[in-house]
Amino acid sequence: MPRKKLSRNAPCPCGSGKKYKHCCYGKSFDYEKDDDGTIFKSIPMSEEMVDLFEEQRQKFINKYGREPGSHDSIFFDMPHPEQVEHMTVQAMKEAGIAAAIIYAYEKTGRIVTDDNQHLLSEADLAEWDDAIEEYETKHRKTRKTPDYPIGTVAMYGPDDKTTTKIAAGVILHDGAEAIIKRWVATFCPFRTGKQGSNRKD
Ligand SMILES: [Zn+2]
Repeated sequence: MPRKKLSRNAPCPCGSGKKYKHCCYGKSFDYEKDDDGTIFKSIPMSEEMVDLFEEQRQKFINKYGREPGSHDSIFFDMPHPEQVEHMTVQAMKEAGIAAAIIYAYEKTGRIVTDDNQHLLSEADLAEWDDAIEEYETKHRKTRKTPDYPIGTVAMYGPDDKTTTKIAAGVILHDGAEAIIKRWVATFCPFRTGKQGSNRKD
């Protein structure tokens, strides 16, 4: 069936909710539509891919004695997809790929790199970014090492508006003894909104 280029004003097929011209238009792939309204993503093939498809075609002919048809899988001799994913994850771990990327691959079923992102729709890229973000949020260290020196000022008073005592502490470095100074006023002209508060500077 003949295919036509998708109208620039059509909603982007990637599902972002934006118009095609404001979304995936201008990427290194095209969205095309046939007379039934079925949408195809047309990706330019690299030489490497052409070679790979040709190799698969030959293997198919050797095995079945005929040309592969439109209902035959190009990678007919591949292991089950889940098996492929498992093998890929193992290989990624062994190669020392960042855990966030492995997580995003397991979640989205694809690997986004600088080299291939122009071939992916905005929605696919968003899904990838979300997966990376999700991993990082989950594994972010909640306990941050504090920045030294640390300073603390505590103010005390007879009520919540008057300060009569101030204690200040400074810790210069990790493990250092705190340097603490205290001031006590008998008459206090300044007022503070906080009492006995512990404030970090
Ligand atoms: Zn899009």
